Amino acid sequence: MSEPPETSEDDDLPYCACGHTRHHLMVSPEPEYTAWGTFWVTLMGVSAAPICIRFRCRVCKSLFDLTNDPDELRTFL
Ligand SMILES: [Zn+2]
Repeated sequence: MSEPPETSEDDDLPYCACGHTRHHLMVSPEPEYTAWGTFWVTLMGVSAAPICIRFRCRVCKSLFDLTNDPDELRTFL
């Protein structure tokens, strides 16, 4: 295996037409839940872990990134 180690450099992240990465102020996370998760969140008012999170730029309105990294998902509980 010659994969380079993971880094947290923004350079490696996808970005939208404006050049914003998921960490930019104008980029909003949009958590996506399973049907069952949506049921709990919307009807029961409890928190469920999203299955993935999409990132939408509020300037150009494009969805340009998503994550299903468990560590990141946990921050949206
Ligand atoms: Zn944009």
